[in-house]
Amino acid sequence: MKYDYLVVGAGLFGAVFAQQAKAHGKKVLVIDKRDHIAGNVYTEKIEGINFHKYGAHIFHTNNKEVWDYIGNFATFNRFTNSPVANYKGELYSLPFNMYTFNKMWNVTTPKEAQDIIRKQRKEITREPQNLEEQAISLVGRDIYEKLIKGYTEKQWGRDCRELPPFIIKRLPVRLTFDNNYFNALYQGIPIGGYTKMVENLLTGIEVRLSENYLEKKEEYDNLADTVLYTGAIDAFYNYCYGNLEYRSVRFENEILDTPNFQGNAAVNYTDRETPYTRIIEHKWFEFGKDENGNDLDKTIISREYSAEWKPGDEPYYPINDEKNSALYSRYKELADKEKNILFGGRLGAYKYYDMDGVIAAALELCKSCFDD
Ligand code: UDP
Repeated sequence: MKYDYLVVGAGLFGAVFAQQAKAHGKKVLVIDKRDHIAGNVYTEKIEGINFHKYGAHIFHTNNKEVWDYIGNFATFNRFTNSPVANYKGELYSLPFNMYTFNKMWNVTTPKEAQDIIRKQRKEITREPQNLEEQAISLVGRDIYEKLIKGYTEKQWGRDCRELPPFIIKRLPVRLTFDNNYFNALYQGIPIGGYTKMVENLLTGIEVRLSENYLEKKEEYDNLADTVLYTGAIDAFYNYCYGNLEYRSVRFENEILDTPNFQGNAAVNYTDRETPYTRIIEHKWFEFGKDENGNDLDKTIISREYSAEWKPGDEPYYPINDEKNSALYSRYKELADKEKNILFGGRLGAYKYYDMDGVIAAALELCKSCFDD
């Protein structure tokens, strides 16, 4: 065999695995069906702005091992995610905190806010069984109706009563004046863009782009002892049990001849009527400056539309509801029987990972492969 490992997918999971394999003296080949590396974290420089082509990625983690590891490949800036919610023209701070409660109920103290939430959450009398019950039990009905329901139903294309509670548990609720979206010790955007970071991970590793593994599977399998596959697991098995469901995202991008469109990296449109879920203004991930610290005259915005995935679309979010989780378990059973094929990443593991979770899972897999 020519290679010890064939890594299918040059996204974050594949790149971390390849980097570690190389560091352990293994021969690695990375292939990707796209014409670029970095998977969905790919950024591209347009008008001096690092444009997040497949949606906004803000790195955040509490995992020191992950932070120390990725710090070898990028320096992170001090960006802190504080999205603004726009509900029919009313602006609210996110995540849910004292600024949000002040605007919603005109309260000024944590006690007043807590009293309202306590009163409103009384309508939920059992352990939350779905996202609606979970949301109301966290922040009450007012916030659920204005800031959660519309956004969530647009994003997932499903009624909040049909979605699992854990999705909304990602969002912090605070009785302090703190607009930092993440409860993370470490946070930032890699200076110079994510593509540069992935390039650094892949230094010295052979990469072939525009190569579709599933179309030439046998040929590729003959090249390496072990394959790490980071594509969609149901596609790998030719959808033999039927296809898993995903949410896809479509972006309408615009370059505008104005220096400041919305004054923030992310504005979420939380009503049901606005067809997009959010608008990202990419320059604010880097404080509106180019790499030399100069102000930029133009701006790039992306309106984000959520869509049900259908074959041929890019899958973005796995839908971890009961039906899909059960179907995934069946594919996982097949995967567990494979001797020379490993699976990983958001699509390979059908898991709603954040970037740090992807890196942690990749490092975990590496330990089991490379540590004696
Ligand atoms: N969410 C919401 N309103 C918002 C932002 C998020 O209700 O303004 C909910 C929604 O259900 C979403 C979940 O919180 O699916 C997680 O949001 P997050 O921003 O973490 O998702 P991502 O950035 O990964 O799309």
